[in-house]
Amino acid sequence: MKPKKLTLALALGGLLIGSLALAQTKPEETEVWKPVPPVVAPAREIGGAPSDAIVLFDGRDLAQWVSTQDKSPAAWRVEDGVLTVDKTRGNIETKRSFRDYQLHLEWRIPADITGTGQARGNSGVFLASTGPGDHGYELQIVDSHDNATYVNGQAASLYKQHPPLANASRKPGEWQIYDVIWRAPVFGADGALVSPATVTALHNGVLVQDNATLSGETVYIGKPAYKAHGPAPIKLQAHGDPSAPISFRNIWVRELAPRS
Ligand code: MG
Repeated sequence: MKPKKLTLALALGGLLIGSLALAQTKPEETEVWKPVPPVVAPAREIGGAPSDAIVLFDGRDLAQWVSTQDKSPAAWRVEDGVLTVDKTRGNIETKRSFRDYQLHLEWRIPADITGTGQARGNSGVFLASTGPGDHGYELQIVDSHDNATYVNGQAASLYKQHPPLANASRKPGEWQIYDVIWRAPVFGADGALVSPATVTALHNGVLVQDNATLSGETVYIGKPAYKAHGPAPIKLQAHGDPSAPISFRNIWVRELAPRS
Protein backbone atom coordinates (compact mmCIF):
# COMPACT_ATOMS: atom_id res chain seq x y z
CA MET A 1 0.00 0.00 0.00
CA LYS A 2 1.21 3.48 -0.87
CA PRO A 3 2.00 5.66 2.11
CA LYS A 4 -0.87 8.04 1.25
CA LYS A 5 -3.43 5.23 1.14
CA LEU A 6 -2.02 3.70 4.30
CA THR A 7 -2.43 7.00 6.10
CA LEU A 8 -6.02 7.25 4.90
CA ALA A 9 -6.76 3.67 5.98
CA LEU A 10 -5.28 4.30 9.40
CA ALA A 11 -7.23 7.53 9.73
CA LEU A 12 -10.52 5.79 8.80
CA GLY A 13 -9.74 2.91 11.13
CA GLY A 14 -9.00 5.35 13.91
CA LEU A 15 -12.25 7.18 13.23
CA LEU A 16 -14.20 3.90 13.37
CA ILE A 17 -12.61 2.80 16.65
CA GLY A 18 -13.11 6.26 18.04
CA SER A 19 -16.81 6.31 17.13
CA LEU A 20 -17.32 2.82 18.58
CA ALA A 21 -15.66 3.90 21.79
CA LEU A 22 -17.86 6.97 21.79
CA ALA A 23 -20.99 4.82 21.37
CA GLN A 24 -19.99 2.71 24.38
CA THR A 25 -19.33 5.63 26.64
CA LYS A 26 -22.83 7.13 26.54
CA PRO A 27 -24.08 6.63 30.10
CA GLU A 28 -27.71 6.44 28.97
CA GLU A 29 -26.98 3.23 27.05
CA THR A 30 -26.47 1.29 30.29
CA GLU A 31 -29.30 2.87 32.29
CA VAL A 32 -32.34 0.69 33.10
CA TRP A 33 -35.56 2.48 34.03
CA LYS A 34 -38.15 -0.30 34.04
CA PRO A 35 -39.59 -2.27 35.73
CA VAL A 36 -39.52 0.04 38.74
CA PRO A 37 -38.88 -1.90 42.00
CA PRO A 38 -41.84 -1.84 44.39
CA VAL A 39 -41.70 0.58 47.28
CA VAL A 40 -41.23 -1.19 50.63
CA ALA A 41 -41.21 1.05 53.67
CA PRO A 42 -38.65 -0.23 56.16
CA ALA A 43 -39.58 -0.46 59.83
CA ARG A 44 -38.66 2.45 62.08
CA GLU A 45 -36.96 0.14 64.54
CA ILE A 46 -34.12 -2.28 63.71
CA GLY A 47 -35.49 -5.76 63.11
CA GLY A 48 -39.06 -4.52 62.73
CA ALA A 49 -41.37 -5.71 59.97
CA PRO A 50 -41.20 -3.81 56.65
CA SER A 51 -44.47 -2.63 55.09
CA ASP A 52 -44.96 -5.70 52.87
CA ALA A 53 -44.17 -8.30 55.57
CA ILE A 54 -46.63 -10.83 56.94
CA VAL A 55 -46.29 -10.59 60.72
CA LEU A 56 -46.32 -14.10 62.17
CA PHE A 57 -45.86 -13.14 65.81
CA ASP A 58 -46.08 -9.59 67.12
CA GLY A 59 -46.09 -10.39 70.82
CA ARG A 60 -49.87 -10.56 71.20
CA ASP A 61 -51.21 -13.96 70.16
CA LEU A 62 -50.74 -17.11 68.10
CA ALA A 63 -53.48 -16.32 65.57
CA GLN A 64 -51.09 -17.19 62.72
CA TRP A 65 -50.11 -20.58 64.16
CA VAL A 66 -51.51 -24.09 64.62
CA SER A 67 -50.33 -27.30 66.20
CA THR A 68 -48.41 -29.36 63.63
CA GLN A 69 -49.92 -32.55 64.97
CA ASP A 70 -53.65 -31.89 64.51
CA LYS A 71 -53.89 -28.32 63.17
CA SER A 72 -55.71 -27.20 66.33
CA PRO A 73 -54.94 -23.65 67.59
CA ALA A 74 -51.32 -23.39 68.72
CA ALA A 75 -51.10 -23.50 72.51
CA TRP A 76 -47.60 -22.41 73.44
CA ARG A 77 -47.37 -19.73 76.14
CA VAL A 78 -47.59 -16.04 75.20
CA GLU A 79 -46.65 -13.65 77.99
CA ASP A 80 -45.22 -10.12 78.07
CA GLY A 81 -44.82 -10.09 74.29
CA VAL A 82 -42.81 -13.30 74.29
CA LEU A 83 -43.70 -16.75 72.93
CA THR A 84 -42.33 -19.70 74.90
CA VAL A 85 -42.21 -23.33 73.76
CA ASP A 86 -44.56 -25.74 75.54
CA LYS A 87 -42.83 -29.07 75.11
CA THR A 88 -45.95 -30.98 76.08
CA ARG A 89 -47.83 -29.50 73.10
CA GLY A 90 -45.44 -30.44 70.29
CA ASN A 91 -44.33 -28.43 67.27
CA ILE A 92 -46.30 -25.47 65.94
CA GLU A 93 -46.44 -24.16 62.38
CA THR A 94 -47.88 -21.27 60.42
CA LYS A 95 -51.41 -21.48 59.06
CA ARG A 96 -50.13 -20.08 55.80
CA SER A 97 -47.90 -21.91 53.38
CA PHE A 98 -44.96 -20.29 51.65
CA ARG A 99 -42.63 -20.88 48.74
CA ASP A 100 -39.63 -18.57 48.68
CA TYR A 101 -39.29 -15.98 51.41
CA GLN A 102 -37.21 -13.77 53.71
CA LEU A 103 -37.73 -14.60 57.40
CA HIS A 104 -36.86 -12.63 60.52
CA LEU A 105 -37.07 -14.34 63.88
CA GLU A 106 -35.67 -13.65 67.35
CA TRP A 107 -35.02 -16.35 69.95
CA ARG A 108 -33.65 -16.62 73.47
CA ILE A 109 -32.14 -19.48 75.40
CA PRO A 110 -33.15 -19.23 79.10
CA ALA A 111 -30.44 -17.64 81.27
CA ASP A 112 -30.60 -20.62 83.63
CA ILE A 113 -30.30 -23.25 80.89
CA THR A 114 -28.88 -26.62 81.92
CA GLY A 115 -27.75 -29.71 80.01
CA THR A 116 -25.06 -30.37 77.43
CA GLY A 117 -24.72 -30.95 73.70
CA GLN A 118 -28.03 -31.23 71.88
CA ALA A 119 -29.89 -31.31 75.21
CA ARG A 120 -29.30 -27.63 76.01
CA GLY A 121 -31.95 -25.28 74.65
CA ASN A 122 -32.68 -27.32 71.55
CA SER A 123 -35.37 -26.02 69.19
CA GLY A 124 -35.28 -25.14 65.52
CA VAL A 125 -36.96 -23.49 62.57
CA PHE A 126 -38.22 -25.81 59.87
CA LEU A 127 -38.01 -23.62 56.79
CA ALA A 128 -40.67 -25.76 55.12
CA SER A 129 -42.77 -28.16 57.19
CA THR A 130 -43.46 -31.16 55.00
CA GLY A 131 -45.29 -33.34 57.50
CA PRO A 132 -45.92 -34.10 61.15
CA GLY A 133 -43.22 -34.07 63.79
CA ASP A 134 -39.84 -32.97 62.51
CA HIS A 135 -40.44 -33.43 58.78
CA GLY A 136 -38.93 -30.55 56.80
CA TYR A 137 -35.68 -28.60 56.57
CA GLU A 138 -34.29 -27.53 59.95
CA LEU A 139 -32.21 -24.47 60.72
CA GLN A 140 -30.98 -25.47 64.17
CA ILE A 141 -31.49 -23.58 67.40
CA VAL A 142 -29.53 -24.72 70.44
CA ASP A 143 -27.26 -23.05 72.98
CA SER A 144 -23.88 -22.87 71.22
CA HIS A 145 -22.36 -20.08 73.32
CA ASP A 146 -20.18 -22.45 75.30
CA ASN A 147 -21.50 -25.89 74.53
CA ALA A 148 -19.71 -28.36 72.29
CA THR A 149 -21.70 -30.60 69.97
CA TYR A 150 -21.22 -31.91 66.43
CA VAL A 151 -20.70 -28.80 64.28
CA ASN A 152 -23.40 -29.69 61.76
CA GLY A 153 -25.81 -29.69 64.69
CA GLN A 154 -24.77 -26.48 66.47
CA ALA A 155 -26.77 -23.23 66.35
CA ALA A 156 -27.27 -21.89 62.81
CA SER A 157 -26.38 -25.20 61.21
CA LEU A 158 -28.65 -26.65 58.56
CA TYR A 159 -29.03 -29.73 60.69
CA LYS A 160 -26.75 -32.62 59.68
CA GLN A 161 -25.98 -30.93 56.33
CA HIS A 162 -24.13 -27.62 56.71
CA PRO A 163 -22.28 -26.30 59.80
CA PRO A 164 -22.53 -22.52 60.16
CA LEU A 165 -19.70 -20.47 58.63
CA ALA A 166 -19.17 -18.86 62.06
CA ASN A 167 -20.39 -19.26 65.63
CA ALA A 168 -22.13 -15.94 66.29
CA SER A 169 -23.95 -17.16 69.41
CA ARG A 170 -24.84 -14.86 72.25
CA LYS A 171 -25.00 -15.93 75.89
CA PRO A 172 -28.05 -17.67 77.30
CA GLY A 173 -30.54 -15.02 78.44
CA GLU A 174 -29.75 -12.67 75.51
CA TRP A 175 -31.98 -12.30 72.45
CA GLN A 176 -30.57 -13.63 69.20
CA ILE A 177 -31.62 -12.96 65.62
CA TYR A 178 -31.99 -15.11 62.53
CA ASP A 179 -32.50 -13.48 59.14
CA VAL A 180 -33.02 -16.13 56.49
CA ILE A 181 -33.51 -16.27 52.73
CA TRP A 182 -35.22 -19.52 51.82
CA ARG A 183 -35.43 -20.69 48.22
CA ALA A 184 -37.72 -23.70 48.12
CA PRO A 185 -36.84 -26.76 46.07
CA VAL A 186 -38.57 -26.98 42.70
CA PHE A 187 -40.11 -30.25 41.53
CA GLY A 188 -41.32 -31.21 38.07
CA ALA A 189 -44.84 -32.46 37.32
CA ASP A 190 -43.48 -36.01 37.67
CA GLY A 191 -42.20 -35.23 41.18
CA ALA A 192 -38.53 -35.24 40.14
CA LEU A 193 -36.26 -32.59 41.65
CA VAL A 194 -35.64 -29.71 39.22
CA SER A 195 -33.62 -27.48 41.56
CA PRO A 196 -32.65 -28.02 45.23
CA ALA A 197 -33.49 -25.74 48.14
CA THR A 198 -30.96 -23.08 49.08
CA VAL A 199 -30.52 -21.15 52.31
CA THR A 200 -28.75 -17.91 53.12
CA ALA A 201 -28.81 -16.98 56.80
CA LEU A 202 -27.41 -14.38 59.17
CA HIS A 203 -27.11 -15.05 62.89
CA ASN A 204 -26.96 -11.83 64.89
CA GLY A 205 -25.92 -10.05 61.69
CA VAL A 206 -23.13 -12.52 60.86
CA LEU A 207 -23.32 -14.56 57.64
CA VAL A 208 -23.65 -18.20 58.69
CA GLN A 209 -25.13 -19.85 55.57
CA ASP A 210 -24.12 -18.52 52.16
CA ASN A 211 -26.54 -19.81 49.55
CA ALA A 212 -26.07 -23.31 50.97
CA THR A 213 -27.62 -26.08 48.90
CA LEU A 214 -29.64 -28.73 50.72
CA SER A 215 -29.41 -32.39 49.72
CA GLY A 216 -32.96 -33.03 50.90
CA GLU A 217 -35.08 -32.92 54.02
CA THR A 218 -33.45 -33.01 57.44
CA VAL A 219 -33.04 -36.46 58.90
CA TYR A 220 -31.61 -37.47 62.27
CA ILE A 221 -30.26 -40.79 61.01
CA GLY A 222 -28.99 -41.50 57.50
CA LYS A 223 -28.81 -39.44 54.33
CA PRO A 224 -31.18 -36.61 53.43
CA ALA A 225 -33.44 -37.07 50.42
CA TYR A 226 -36.07 -35.02 48.64
CA LYS A 227 -39.68 -35.88 48.21
CA ALA A 228 -41.86 -33.60 46.13
CA HIS A 229 -43.94 -30.99 47.94
CA GLY A 230 -45.58 -27.66 47.26
CA PRO A 231 -45.73 -24.48 49.34
CA ALA A 232 -45.34 -25.35 53.02
CA PRO A 233 -45.74 -23.83 56.49
CA ILE A 234 -42.86 -22.55 58.64
CA LYS A 235 -42.54 -24.70 61.76
CA LEU A 236 -41.01 -24.17 65.21
CA GLN A 237 -39.67 -27.16 67.11
CA ALA A 238 -40.68 -28.36 70.56
CA HIS A 239 -37.63 -30.53 71.14
CA GLY A 240 -37.94 -33.33 73.64
CA ASP A 241 -34.78 -32.63 75.60
CA PRO A 242 -35.30 -31.96 79.35
CA SER A 243 -33.73 -28.47 79.43
CA ALA A 244 -35.87 -25.36 80.01
CA PRO A 245 -37.95 -24.22 76.99
CA ILE A 246 -36.69 -21.41 74.77
CA SER A 247 -38.60 -18.28 73.71
CA PHE A 248 -39.33 -16.37 70.50
CA ARG A 249 -40.41 -12.85 69.58
CA ASN A 250 -40.75 -10.60 66.55
CA ILE A 251 -41.33 -13.10 63.74
CA TRP A 252 -42.16 -11.85 60.26
CA VAL A 253 -41.82 -13.06 56.70
CA ARG A 254 -41.69 -11.44 53.25
CA GLU A 255 -42.72 -13.60 50.33
CA LEU A 256 -40.28 -13.56 47.42
CA ALA A 257 -40.94 -14.18 43.76
CA PRO A 258 -39.27 -17.38 42.59
CA ARG A 259 -35.87 -16.77 41.04
CA SER A 260 -36.25 -16.80 37.27
MG1 MG B 1 -33.49 -28.74 66.83
